[in-house]
Amino acid sequence: MSQSAVSTSCNLMNNYARWPIALVKGQANTVWDDTGKAYLDFTSGIAVTSLGHCPPQVTKALQEQLETLWHCSNLFRIPVQEELAAKLAEVSGLDKVFFCNSGAEANEGAIKIARRYAQKIKGEERYEVITFHQSFHGRTLATLTATGQDKVKDGFLPLPEGFISVPYNDLEALKAVITERTCGILMELVQGEGGVHAADPAWVKAVRELCDEQGILFMVDEVQTGIGRTGTWFAFQQYGITPDVVSVAKGLGSGFPIGAVLAVDKVAEAFSPGTHGTTFGGNPLATTAGVATLATIEQENLLARVNQLNEYLVAQLQKLQQTSGDKVTHIRGRGLLIGVELTQPAADIITYAREKGVLLHSAGPNVIRLLPSFVTTEQEIDTVINVLTEALLQG
Ligand SMILES: *Cc1c(COP(=O)(O)O)cnc(C)c1O
Repeated sequence: MSQSAVSTSCNLMNNYARWPIALVKGQANTVWDDTGKAYLDFTSGIAVTSLGHCPPQVTKALQEQLETLWHCSNLFRIPVQEELAAKLAEVSGLDKVFFCNSGAEANEGAIKIARRYAQKIKGEERYEVITFHQSFHGRTLATLTATGQDKVKDGFLPLPEGFISVPYNDLEALKAVITERTCGILMELVQGEGGVHAADPAWVKAVRELCDEQGILFMVDEVQTGIGRTGTWFAFQQYGITPDVVSVAKGLGSGFPIGAVLAVDKVAEAFSPGTHGTTFGGNPLATTAGVATLATIEQENLLARVNQLNEYLVAQLQKLQQTSGDKVTHIRGRGLLIGVELTQPAADIITYAREKGVLLHSAGPNVIRLLPSFVTTEQEIDTVINVLTEALLQG
């Protein structure tokens, strides 16, 4: 165990139950702690370092940008920001982009644009956003209120008005809460933090139709699922629908902080000069990371690779399910966002794996969440499966 592990004199706030290792270096899918121990990383910084650690093309682009211009503010045109917006519009089919710094901020932007759009068109009583149980949308006051899990709200009253959450994959429950106050629906197509549950395609189509009928916005939170994680640029592309608004963040900058709100033209028009803003959002460094990330995914054909790796990983997990004596109850998810539900606490398995040099994350008490990078090898998947097999046999 590393020296820095459990330091009683640490000046950091205690809002994380941190693991007792300090990571100091990363390359592709390997990270090293401060004692020199190597780990195979299947967390990817929670779906962020999708190209592996220090991906060469992004590293080079950032190094060049570091010597050119870091920041100048959105008072000016930023060509690389415009380039990233054009690329995101091309791969999403939406029209306009607002850049920010995180997932929560992207969802704040989505909520704000939905309210402003509805209030400009339909009047001031349109403000309510409908979300879903077990969802996760972030930690700001508005996005934790939008989140369909009580644990993130504890102690933070009073919460902002204008949010209601209903059961996921349930059309009747949704219809029952749509009123003249509703301005939009915000959903994840695979609930990442909430246990890796995917939306039912028929339900998603029905929600899209319902939104069109009722004139309310269909907003998809792709903070975790976006930028290739599920095997297409966006998860919505597997559902045969186009949302009005999409939020992204995690995988967009390969680890450089960046978020974005994408919207179709008619919605984007709701943001006129002065209505929304950010100091850092979309700065030359962040958007350079974004451009290089998307270019790498395209040039290295990584969406196809995500689908290949998904097939291999799921097949190996199904074998594990057979050999584990019913300890694996479900294998869920899409692409390289995979949940493995166990009959036992995920934490024990995660601790065992970490000691064996494999980093895994959870999604709720009994679900291991596998988030390998898009440049993972089949051999690395085998290593993780072997460690999981051992861990399950132990416990
Ligand atoms: C991580 C996440 C967020 C919050 O992103 P931050 O960058 O931590 O603010 C929002 N929505 C989803 C679906 C996420 O997975």
